[in-house]
Amino acid sequence: MSEALLQVEGMKKYFKIKKDQTVKSVDDISIEIKKGETFGLVGESGSGKSTLGKTIVGLQSPTAGRIIYNGVDVETLDKKSKINVNREMQIIFQDPYASLNPRMRVGDIIAEGIDAHNLAKGKARQDRIFELLDRVGLRPEHARRYPHEFSGGQRQRIGIARALAVNPKFIVADEPISALDVSIQAQVINLMEDLKKQEELTYLFIAHDLGMVKHISDRIGVMYLGKMMELANSYDLFAEPLHPYTQALLSAIPVANPKAAKRERIVLAGDPPSPVNPPSGCRFRTRCPHAMSICAEVVPAWKEVKPNHWTACHLYN
Ligand code: SF4
Repeated sequence: MSEALLQVEGMKKYFKIKKDQTVKSVDDISIEIKKGETFGLVGESGSGKSTLGKTIVGLQSPTAGRIIYNGVDVETLDKKSKINVNREMQIIFQDPYASLNPRMRVGDIIAEGIDAHNLAKGKARQDRIFELLDRVGLRPEHARRYPHEFSGGQRQRIGIARALAVNPKFIVADEPISALDVSIQAQVINLMEDLKKQEELTYLFIAHDLGMVKHISDRIGVMYLGKMMELANSYDLFAEPLHPYTQALLSAIPVANPKAAKRERIVLAGDPPSPVNPPSGCRFRTRCPHAMSICAEVVPAWKEVKPNHWTACHLYN
């Protein structure tokens, strides 16, 4: 697991909301996702993590930056190759109900991509729908039903089947379990892990809390107000979080181990500042318990503080 499937270089995604106001939702992010990897992306609401995911799969065009897929800049591809890359990159959404057309039967929802890419017709299409339903733990008769006839967990399974229908290689899972009951979350995670092995998938798994991505991720990136704050493999991030924001997120996860329960909880003051007018210097400084005068003046450099463990914080400069 070393070859990069996806490289995001200097990605920016800005939204102009008024004549003189711009939200810098994603502001100069560079990441590399390796073939077969699950890359967890974490941050509070407004951190830009979902915008980054949607921009990577082409649902939004970047303001600046490059997306390199399988070694090729997608902007340089001809139309046919671009359509092929779009097919190979799929997305699963947070709210399965909102993302499924309530007036369509589940079979036709699953076949949307099959039809759009002309992958199968007639009986082959029908067989493929049944096969996909089976892959995600649903039954053939479910193809004739409508989304409202299913539970939240089943609807997420339908969303996963729809993404799988076009034989993707890379899936952005945008908070796929956040809207589900805790009892159902593990089932959907297990299904995604099984499918990853069977289909040789690569995931960008987005969540708002670190606990959700801990077990599924090989590496984890932590975003705050459009910037990457820390990036490390999952074990190192949990064993030794470097950035004060990661430390605060980690301290909020309930732990079963009584020794670990002694870990002091770091309460972050207030909500994140508006991304329209983010703080100067380090964007986390208005909530950071370690903020120094330099933090307001200088943007901290993105630095490899330990092998493969990166962070942007003046404490390590
Ligand atoms: Fe805190 Fe300063 Fe580090 Fe930002 S750069 S996280 S404000 S210590």
